[in-house]
Amino acid sequence: MRILLIEDDLMIGEAVSIALKDAAYAVDWVKDGVAAGGALEHGDHQAVLLDLGLPRRDGLEVLRRLRHAGNKIPVVVITARDGVEDRIRGLDIGADDYLVKPFDVNELLARLRAVVRRQGGQATPILTNGRVSLDPATREARCGDVVEQLSAREFALLHAFLLRPGRILSRTELEEHIYGWNEEVESNAVDFLIHGVRRKLGVDVIKNVRGAGWMVEKSE
Ligand code: CA
Repeated sequence: MRILLIEDDLMIGEAVSIALKDAAYAVDWVKDGVAAGGALEHGDHQAVLLDLGLPRRDGLEVLRRLRHAGNKIPVVVITARDGVEDRIRGLDIGADDYLVKPFDVNELLARLRAVVRRQGGQATPILTNGRVSLDPATREARCGDVVEQLSAREFALLHAFLLRPGRILSRTELEEHIYGWNEEVESNAVDFLIHGVRRKLGVDVIKNVRGAGWMVEKSE
């Protein structure tokens, strides 16, 4: 899962960035409102963390433009503006959640999981498809009786499939989901992760679709 972090404060940005990576997210970080607008047009991300006090274009304006363009990506506002009116405005413009600085990074991660889950129409925190399930809070995967702890990137891979069971994902789509802009991606990195997940959960968990990519078959 790939997150766009929009934050001009270097210390906060660095801390959030590290926490997100530790929690198995790919992170792209931009530091002003205009760069944020450009990054959002690409549609590479599954959720946004948005500071409001930003250089070049205010965070509320970034959000207003995003929703005006019909983009429904989940947005969690993280800001020092704790006035009730600012909070109401942010939510009215289309923020999905709101966190006032200073915040606990674990709370931020929990809120992020919640907005992504709501976006995916999942009422429960655990992603399930037939015999396979995945708990985003613990990174624990289950297939029938087998329970395994996944690495950060194995988790990101299986998460991409379980968000949309039955959909074929190409190598490029998987790389975009798992890695940020500045990360070097080895040419066989995706194969390596798929091998890792199959080794833990069974070969049939992820199917090859020749010439197109891979999929987790949608369970009836
Ligand atoms: Ca700021």
